[in-house]
Amino acid sequence: MSAKNPVVTCTVDQCTHYLPGDRCAAAKISVYNNEVNGSASTSADTLCKSFHPRKTAGDMIGALHNVNLGGAAAEAFVDGRQLTPAVECFVTGCRYWEKDNLCSAGNIRVTGANAANPPDTDCETFAPR
Ligand code: SF4
Ligand code: SF4
Repeated sequence: MSAKNPVVTCTVDQCTHYLPGDRCAAAKISVYNNEVNGSASTSADTLCKSFHPRKTAGDMIGALHNVNLGGAAAEAFVDGRQLTPAVECFVTGCRYWEKDNLCSAGNIRVTGANAANPPDTDCETFAPR
C-alpha cells in the first residue's frame, strides 16, 4: 500500500465487497470520473470502478480475486490497523488527487443507494480544485 492512502468508508451495501460497519473488503479500489464526460465537477461525476453487484453466488465467487485477506487478518490481530483497500484514483480534478493516482484525503466516503453498476456509486469526498 502506498504512503498516501485514505481510510475508506462505504455505504454501498449492494456491492460484494461491502462489509457491515460500512467497510470495504476489496484489496484495492479504483475511483474514476463519470464515463460520459470523462471529468468531474461534483461527487456525482465520480464512481467506484471496483463495485461488483451482489446478486448471485457466481458473482460473489467472481469477486474473490479482489479480497483484502491480508487486511482482514491483520485487523483481527493487530491493534490500530484498520481494514481498508488501497485506493487509486483517476479524478485529476479533485483537490485531493496527487500524482501517481494517489488520494491525499485522510478518509473517503463512497456512497450509492441501490447501486447496480459502478456509475451508480460516488466518491462523496470529491471536492473540486
Ligand atoms: S462500492 Fe467500492 S468502496 Fe464500496 S464496497 Fe464496493 S468496491 Fe468497496
Ligand atoms: S477524494 Fe478525490 S482524490 Fe480521493 S478518491 Fe475521492 S475523488 Fe479521488
